Amino acid sequence: MSDFTYSVDADGVATLTWDVPGKSMNVMTREAFAEVSAMVDKALADDRVKGIIVTSGKKDFAGGMDLNVLASIREEAGDNPARALFDFTMSGHRILRKLERAGMDPKTLKGGKPVVCALPGTCAGIGTELALACHRRIMADNPKAKIGLPEILVGLFPGGGGTTRYSRMVGAMAAAPVLLEGKMLEPAKAKAAGLIDEVVAPEDLLKRAREWVLAATDADIVKPWDQKGWKMPGGAPYHPAGFMTFVGANAMVHGKTQGVYPAAKALLSAVYEGALVPFDTALTIEARWFTSVLMNPSSSAMIRSLFLNKEALEKGANRPKVADQTVRKLGVLGAGMMGAGIAYVAANAGIEVVLIDAAQEAADRGKAHAEGILDKGMKRGKVTAEKKAEVLGRITATTGYAALEGCDLIVEAVFEDMKVKAGVTAEAEAVIPATAIFATNTSTLPISDLAKASKRPEQFIGIHFFSPVDKMMLVEIIKGAKTGDTAVAKALDFVRQIRKTPIVVNDARFFFANRCIIPYINEGIRMVAEGVEPALIEHAATLLGFPLGPLQLVDETSIDLGVKIARATKAAMGDAYPDGAVDAVLFAMADRGRLGRKSSAGFYAYDDKGGRLGLWEELGTIWPVSDTQPDLAHVQHRLMMAQVLEAVRALEDGVLEDIREGDVGAILGWGFAPWSGGPFSWLDIIGAGKAVDICDGLEAAHGARFAAPKLLRDLAAKGQTFYGRFGTAAKAA
Ligand code: NAD
Repeated sequence: MSDFTYSVDADGVATLTWDVPGKSMNVMTREAFAEVSAMVDKALADDRVKGIIVTSGKKDFAGGMDLNVLASIREEAGDNPARALFDFTMSGHRILRKLERAGMDPKTLKGGKPVVCALPGTCAGIGTELALACHRRIMADNPKAKIGLPEILVGLFPGGGGTTRYSRMVGAMAAAPVLLEGKMLEPAKAKAAGLIDEVVAPEDLLKRAREWVLAATDADIVKPWDQKGWKMPGGAPYHPAGFMTFVGANAMVHGKTQGVYPAAKALLSAVYEGALVPFDTALTIEARWFTSVLMNPSSSAMIRSLFLNKEALEKGANRPKVADQTVRKLGVLGAGMMGAGIAYVAANAGIEVVLIDAAQEAADRGKAHAEGILDKGMKRGKVTAEKKAEVLGRITATTGYAALEGCDLIVEAVFEDMKVKAGVTAEAEAVIPATAIFATNTSTLPISDLAKASKRPEQFIGIHFFSPVDKMMLVEIIKGAKTGDTAVAKALDFVRQIRKTPIVVNDARFFFANRCIIPYINEGIRMVAEGVEPALIEHAATLLGFPLGPLQLVDETSIDLGVKIARATKAAMGDAYPDGAVDAVLFAMADRGRLGRKSSAGFYAYDDKGGRLGLWEELGTIWPVSDTQPDLAHVQHRLMMAQVLEAVRALEDGVLEDIREGDVGAILGWGFAPWSGGPFSWLDIIGAGKAVDICDGLEAAHGARFAAPKLLRDLAAKGQTFYGRFGTAAKAA
């Protein structure tokens, strides 16, 4: 069965309809590309054909390239994958260029056949690049539709001619939001940004496309860069304005990426170098940079974690094989910051929610939180009044547990206190059906201990959200010692309903994400006590691509929370507690009332409105800065290894069962250097041998917390990688 169909009507308009059988979204494959090529040949050779419409048989146009294709080309290519990837990219360029030239005489630029792209809905990646090669793009005024080139978000850049074409259409600066930030635009904004030419009512889409094809003249179908005397909008690199643009763009990209994302640099190089040469040479340059990015281990790791594995986890790669567990009625206990957020995301996904708190005002405040998020959405034009009413209509805010009758899932988010949690568990279980699943959102209490308050521990599970719930995409699902398969499936189905990404881990102190984040924060604080320049600590982290340095992170999450966790951990661990040096700093800050952003005072200073000013100057007085400072690389190794070794230990301990979850969870949960693909991918990039060397050096200088785990030493001794040893499941997905 073909992905494209071809038909010609009585007026000589050929239509290429993209409709991949058995899929809800069109994605491009090698075979489909060959079909497009053959159909374009056929249309150009057929004298009856006056012009071509390229459209989709689905509600959307295309989701982009099937990224598995790139992986399979690499694998099939043997010892010269770069050549194979480059050849594949160039063959794509030739097909799209053939479509763009449309049979016209290369000298007179006459006699070509007009090609219009009729976009019924969303269009991304190679779909947009195909559309850009057409002579005109008409998009349906579909409120859900967006168009763009989001490749940069998975570590690539548009390598199917999109970079060269779009930068030449609007200029390097104007193209930046689409190319460099991967922004997807609604039809009206896409028209303003020059990505499309017309927006029409959905029912008029094909009619308007035919009209245009039949009326188009020779002049309408010659691309600006194929005309004599063409100049790059906004100026080419050696034009005074262009010079300023490229200098600025280079600085902007470096500022945003810290130079750790190879795709952003390569994209800019392709635009810069391409702008100096004729169009076809520019496409070759784009293909070379694209190949270089595809060959970069960072890009492969990003594609693997942020695209392939993230999707596999969302589709339930580790879901037990039990019947569908779609949630119909959810009970949320505790309408504080987390409970209110959970109620909102569930109601927004169409689930009926009962939101319970001890006092009616607190429950109402929780519902008002949802209203606040919806109001913000309305201000930005993303939410209609009907949608707001619908979502709020699904939330019942109450104090009465009787309202939980019929709930098939409960998420408890009351105070972090064993007794309080046990109390609400018993109260809820007295009302909910015997088959219902009970989940806790605890961040620190063991699931297996909390499950003791339940009459049905096999139906008891952890569903750990991150704050703010409506923004954070990761949900950590934690199995207690007795948690059964149905509870895991229920949690996974719930996370799928609310369109977030799940990881499933076993019960252990701080589960997975916090287990890794806390040592990162602690390592930063330790260095303050040792006299390392605080700015060096923070910059070492951001230069690694972390969104926040450890000191800013603890300010954001609050220093008193750190104190609370430290006290609880110390009480649980007794003499084995290793973080006394950290606590000395943390407690001293708390004693001075510097609790972080919420008190407008922490490791950073803040202005009256809460704006962050800079590192608090007194830090150097309390913890004097040493005359000799460590190398940047040494500080970075400490910050990186503090988290990464914890991830390896979580795998050794069986807390993590799948390295894909460790990598995806780290990036989505705490912004772990996305360019690296996650902690395990990073270790694979540097190699286990090098990692062990770094650990040995750090252990000698700073102690046992940096001792290389046995597993890492074993991989190093055998010359293996994490994905080589544990990636079978990842490959099968
Ligand atoms: P919060 O203090 O904002 O909210 C707790 C709510 O529970 C309050 O509204 C309180 O009135 C209510 N409550 C207390 N006892 C109750 C009872 N017996 N019956 C009904 N309601 C009761 O706390 P939060 O930050 O939303 O945290 C809630 C839970 O989520 C905790 O277990 C916490 O560890 C966990 N958590 C918090 C975060 C975070 O960043 N704050 C992140 C993940 C998980």
